[in-house]
Amino acid sequence: MVIAFLRSWKTKWLLLSATPRLNPLSGFFPRRRFPANAAQLMVVEGESAFLEFDSYAYARALTSCIAGGEPFRGKAIHCHVLKKGGCLDLFCRNILLNFYVRFDLVSSAHRLFDEMPDRNMVSFVNLIQGHAKCGNFTEATVLLLRLHREGHELNHFVFTTALKLFIMMDLPEVGHCLHASICKLGHDNNSFVGASLIETYSCCGLVDDARGVFDSIKKDIVVWTGMVTCYSENECAYEAVLLFSEMMKEGLKPNNYTLTSLLKASVSLSSLDLGKSIHGCSVKSMYESDEYVGGALLDMYAKCGDIEDARLAFNMVPDCDVILWSFMIARYAQSDKNSEALDLFQRMVKSSVAPNEYSFSSVLQACANIGDLDLGGQVHCHVMKIGLLSDIFVANALMDVYAKCSDLESLHKIFHGLYHKNDVSWNTVIVGYVQLDLGDDALRLFKQMWDIGIQATQVTYSSALRACASGAAIELVGQIHSLVMKTPFKDDNVVSNSLVASYAKCGNIKYACKVFGLMKEHDIISWNALISGYAIHSLGTDALSVFRKMTEEGIKANGVTFVGLLSACSNMGLLDEGRSLFNSMTEDYSIEPSMEHYTCMVKLFGRSGHFDEAMKLIKEIPLQATVMVWRALLGACLIHKNVDLGMVCAEKVLEIEPQDELTCVLLSNLYAAGSWDNVSLIRSYMRNQNVKKEPGISWIEKQGEIHSFTAGDLSHPDKRVINAMLEWLNRKIRKSGYVPDFNVVLHDVGDELKKRLLWLHSERLALAFGLVSLPPGSPIRIIKNLRFCSDCHASFKLISKVAGRELIVRDMNRFHHFEDGICSCADYW
Ligand SMILES: [Zn+2]
Ligand SMILES: [Zn+2]
Repeated sequence: MVIAFLRSWKTKWLLLSATPRLNPLSGFFPRRRFPANAAQLMVVEGESAFLEFDSYAYARALTSCIAGGEPFRGKAIHCHVLKKGGCLDLFCRNILLNFYVRFDLVSSAHRLFDEMPDRNMVSFVNLIQGHAKCGNFTEATVLLLRLHREGHELNHFVFTTALKLFIMMDLPEVGHCLHASICKLGHDNNSFVGASLIETYSCCGLVDDARGVFDSIKKDIVVWTGMVTCYSENECAYEAVLLFSEMMKEGLKPNNYTLTSLLKASVSLSSLDLGKSIHGCSVKSMYESDEYVGGALLDMYAKCGDIEDARLAFNMVPDCDVILWSFMIARYAQSDKNSEALDLFQRMVKSSVAPNEYSFSSVLQACANIGDLDLGGQVHCHVMKIGLLSDIFVANALMDVYAKCSDLESLHKIFHGLYHKNDVSWNTVIVGYVQLDLGDDALRLFKQMWDIGIQATQVTYSSALRACASGAAIELVGQIHSLVMKTPFKDDNVVSNSLVASYAKCGNIKYACKVFGLMKEHDIISWNALISGYAIHSLGTDALSVFRKMTEEGIKANGVTFVGLLSACSNMGLLDEGRSLFNSMTEDYSIEPSMEHYTCMVKLFGRSGHFDEAMKLIKEIPLQATVMVWRALLGACLIHKNVDLGMVCAEKVLEIEPQDELTCVLLSNLYAAGSWDNVSLIRSYMRNQNVKKEPGISWIEKQGEIHSFTAGDLSHPDKRVINAMLEWLNRKIRKSGYVPDFNVVLHDVGDELKKRLLWLHSERLALAFGLVSLPPGSPIRIIKNLRFCSDCHASFKLISKVAGRELIVRDMNRFHHFEDGICSCADYW
């Protein structure tokens, strides 16, 4: 972004810098000497001195205003001319015109032009340059046509001006059509025209044509620089360097543009050595503190070296302007060196450089990275004071801060207050919602964006897919998939990776595999998505074979890959494989195990009954073991009825999170397994500790619509049929041997009520709804926010048999595929 800004600036500057050289006036300035006494008079006696002035004296005075940057004195001279009723000649009127153009007073210049009794080519060129400089391209083009129509001379000034104009209008191909006329009128040997033609061809990407022009003209430093720039801008970095060495052999000294282009070439060649030698050249030619060279050096060091080298280059530029400051701050924020970015921003403000939209958006990125709401708010105030809140870059960066800090109110305020929202604004809010687990809101916004015709990007699609995956929205995943197929993103890796992950998370591992198979290229994220997909579906062997294939294709596994692999092993109880993978991860891949890796291993050891090994591993964890680890071991203790160790685990969890309801339930199950009746103890603990009961919620999708069910709440419009179905299921599975397990109910109520409460668990309500409303034979997919309760698990197994249906349930840990009375988790989760 900053570089793009630099570039547009550079083009503008190049045009301006070229102006003095190409200025038509310079060639037409009279050789006549100015009367010395008149000039002195003007300085010494002020305005009255003009009394004696003729056109040439005015011309001289106006030229000195241009050179000295004195717009007010120039205007005063014009006033004086008007007051005296004096009539300037064409030469002097052109200088006056040039004066107005130089100080960007184009409307005054145009008025003067219209009032001129006669005009020549110089008048036209002057005004065309003025309009071009201010972006009034239509006026500039109209004037160019008028110049031609009125029969003025088409000399090299006209052609260079026209070529520059078309480059500025982003229509270089129009400029390149002028080449024929240039040759016909014999200007093709002129080096001014040649330099402009090289630039035109460079913008069209026609490097060979540019070289043709270069070879046929007399070369000065501008022409050489033009050609070097053409090579470096058109991915011919090597040729740029070769041409530069030829230029040095000719004895020419590079200027700041030559050096800037060469530094760009070093970046394309990723050559730090080349970059350093160009740095040496710029030191020798005293350009190292030039702001353009300084900026290019920063860019080169940041991309080829490390950021500290860039910082040294930054420190070397004596008066850094806002672009360089912003660039450096942006670099720090992008490399996640946030305190450096914040520090630099403070220093920038202290050194009286006014921050612009780029500085603000970069410093806000740093605030978002560290999730510092307070600091973000302070920058927000600063932005408001300066009046940059309506700037789209700044507003988007601010929204990102608020989204990352979960401040939804401020996020909405900025989003709805933004008059012109672009795709980034929409994406920021959608991504924010997904991160805050507000999938429904994210999808609502996605639909809104679609309805009003904002072009969705890869970020939009992948975020919407992630939102679907957090709910049970498999049909929505399919719908978004078909939308994607109609866009250029159908082969995009980011979107395809999200499709793989979402299909897997929504319970359709077959489609996930299909999308993976159709992808042209697989990056590490694609492989990880498939491995994790297999892991949550308890397809451990498939996960391992995908890992083998990935290694064969030369993709290096990372920490996420091993989380997938180890959880696949722990879900399937693949002890040996898990053990050797864990060792290989630390030894062969030098990956430091994270808490997630430890949790998987503890789960695996616990599940296979190797409690000593599990405890040994927990002691080896360098940091304090988290709730996740202890809860995993507690689950294993429950399976193996290891009450003593289970109590230790529960104690550890409750030490860290005293209000964890899930542990209380597990503990109650464990006591029951050890035939201890300690439920009342747990109940009083829960009362004392004020244990928050997170309501169990289950989701099920019917024709693209999500229905949610909360435990104990049967307010669904179809409650009568659901109730009837529950009754029928209860009777059916009792006959198949179902005995309700009251240990999962921690309420102090009678057995009859406990029985009723069990049948009002959210997953059962969702299942009954699915059975009555989904077409027979189709699998029923349910998603639950908490852990699958053990009594529901037992009943689902029986229901899959008596109803002859495939039931797929995703709880907070994994998938359970029930078919014909068996669950894919083998009763371990
Ligand atoms: Zn249940
Ligand atoms: Zn299961």
